Amino acid sequence: MSLGDPRVVVIIGALGALGACIGSFLNVVAYRLPRECMNVARPRSRCTQCGRSIAWYDNLPVLSWILLRGKCRGCRASISMRYPGVELGTALLFAWLGAHVVKEPTAFGSDWLVLAVMLTITSALIALTLVDLDYRILPDEITKSGIVLGPVLAFCAPELQHDAHLISLDSPRWAAAVSGVAGAAMAGGVLWSIGWLGSKAFKKDAMGFGDVKMIAAMGGCLGHWALLSLAVAALCGAVIGIVIRVVTAGRYIPFGPFLAVGMWTVMLWGPEIWNGYMDLFRP
Ligand SMILES: [Zn+2]
Repeated sequence: MSLGDPRVVVIIGALGALGACIGSFLNVVAYRLPRECMNVARPRSRCTQCGRSIAWYDNLPVLSWILLRGKCRGCRASISMRYPGVELGTALLFAWLGAHVVKEPTAFGSDWLVLAVMLTITSALIALTLVDLDYRILPDEITKSGIVLGPVLAFCAPELQHDAHLISLDSPRWAAAVSGVAGAAMAGGVLWSIGWLGSKAFKKDAMGFGDVKMIAAMGGCLGHWALLSLAVAALCGAVIGIVIRVVTAGRYIPFGPFLAVGMWTVMLWGPEIWNGYMDLFRP
């Protein structure tokens, strides 16, 4: 989209606002999903300190946190900066995707469907990242749904696979969907095998089965590109993992957030990342 066009400014602003609201919802999902007794939709949010029910005007994404200066209106307990951070981050990712995926803002065509698919995937990745950081689990509600929904999303947006499908068919949509089914099995199988070898070599479980289900869901969407996501995740995980080890002396590092970064970057720049990597070996 051209940023000089006023309609584009409105669309990007609306996507940013939508992202802030979805980010607020993802905070709720990340808090409630691992707590089996809680429903994601109800009841209203409460202060985790005093139990006071939070009114709608104190629950506006980002704004309320700033107006309340990061404190509960009832007990003045401080509210984690993570809540507005997730809302702002989601808003920026949504606005950024809108600006880069939709080529023609006035024509409601396939670009908008691709955007909807990418917003859905982005939301799922943020939720998985938050829950994995807090609880060291990747909830089945998201990963297993992703395995089933992945090929459907690939059918809606074959662009996720960058015109290079694992299995080629005449119809790009069906090629993407079938490649998604095969990609889920292949990516899940590869990570499961790595984990199995690791557990044999180091005599302890190196990887959770949640990671295997997550990358299977990624394969469901991206087909064989999920393997490039795994490589990006492993590289980021190794670099950042070493830094965290040195700084905090051996803390556990969940792999889910790195898989999320790997999927998001390959979803957008798969061919660029692959070519950049291959360039390392060209004279
Ligand atoms: Zn309170």
